[in-house]
Amino acid sequence: MTYKLNDFLIDGIKAKILAKKYSTPLYCYSLKKIKENIKNFQKSFKSIDPLVCFAVKANPNKIILRQMGKLGLGADVVSIGELMRALKAGIKPNKIVFSGVGKTSHELIYAIKKNILLINAESKSEILEIERIAKKEKKKVKVGVRLNPNTDAKTLIQISTGKKENKFGIPEKDLLHVVKYIKNSKYLDLKCLSVHIGSQILDHTPYEKMLKVVRRIINKTKFKFEYIDLGGGMGIDYENKNRRLNLNKYSKSIKKILIKNKSKIIFEPGRSIIGNSGFLISKIIYIKEGHKKDFIILDAAMNDLMRPALYNANHRIIPANKNKKKTKRTYEFVGPICESTDKFSTLKGFQKLKEKDLILICDVGAYGMSLSSNYNLRPKSTELLINKSKIQVINKRQRLKDLI
Ligand SMILES: *Cc1c(COP(=O)(O)O)cnc(C)c1O
Repeated sequence: MTYKLNDFLIDGIKAKILAKKYSTPLYCYSLKKIKENIKNFQKSFKSIDPLVCFAVKANPNKIILRQMGKLGLGADVVSIGELMRALKAGIKPNKIVFSGVGKTSHELIYAIKKNILLINAESKSEILEIERIAKKEKKKVKVGVRLNPNTDAKTLIQISTGKKENKFGIPEKDLLHVVKYIKNSKYLDLKCLSVHIGSQILDHTPYEKMLKVVRRIINKTKFKFEYIDLGGGMGIDYENKNRRLNLNKYSKSIKKILIKNKSKIIFEPGRSIIGNSGFLISKIIYIKEGHKKDFIILDAAMNDLMRPALYNANHRIIPANKNKKKTKRTYEFVGPICESTDKFSTLKGFQKLKEKDLILICDVGAYGMSLSSNYNLRPKSTELLINKSKIQVINKRQRLKDLI
């Protein structure tokens, strides 16, 4: 993923060729990068030998999931839809964990019938519901309990999940009671203690705090959990400033803090596996001169990539074709949607752009397409996977005809 003679290439293929052939806006992922991320992840945690369950919500594309499965990953799902998709993509039930605060009876029945590895429950009520279904099905169901460790992940408030004011998990004060209840149940098989404190975490200190709470809980319950599921949340380098979570450091903390524990570690990474593998290629429709800045009006909008509007997230923008002319104007990259939050970035000193030029929005592999919508009745875009310089269409652009 680099420039060659001023053209940006994704795994050897020019972005402008992709745009011409498949039209824009266009999602494009590099399989090579995904593989590299998985390798790097596994290498960092090698001494722990974890089960890595890809968080499907980050990118639920069927063909991508199939690749994840082939590369040995399991899946972390948060709905029956994701569970069905993961199974359809060939991921084995014994590598699937089910998270979420509001699993319905319908979803639980399906998960129980499929014998997945773990249902990580997030409340006493959910435990009672699982027990009721298990009894009816005459089964002993493997469950985990998700702890709310009351740990601040120091990330965006919208994607922080481990504080006591968040809806997720069971607070420490109630957890012991729930554990005791499960231990005494004929129909429940307590297997796992799980946590997940949030997303896009860049500093390893929140993880260290979380691990200490986990250790305290293990000591208090005196229960030998077969699995400790530490969730996901590992942050990536959106700014290209070499700011990402240091996985090696995190791995060392796990070894240090959970040293006496013989439990199998589970991770549920989403963003860190696929985030930096994806680009959104977009064409400039118009350039409109504003008061102190120029509006670069793209054919991609907040319905295609929601993170900037939803979290104020900033994704790097780069030209598909480099030139040496720098502009003195400030550029505001916006989409065509009727909302003022439909903007991606405001940049100074960008190269001079003209109408019909192509740009790429970077690091959109996670929570890009999966958060997209049909707002303003805009069709969802095509998704491509580049596999060793071969282009694979892994999702066709929605047809207007079908939407209308
Ligand atoms: C969203 C989520 C993840 C994945 O988070 P990333 O930041 O993408 O790694 C993992 N586990 C649970 C329970 C989640 O809700």
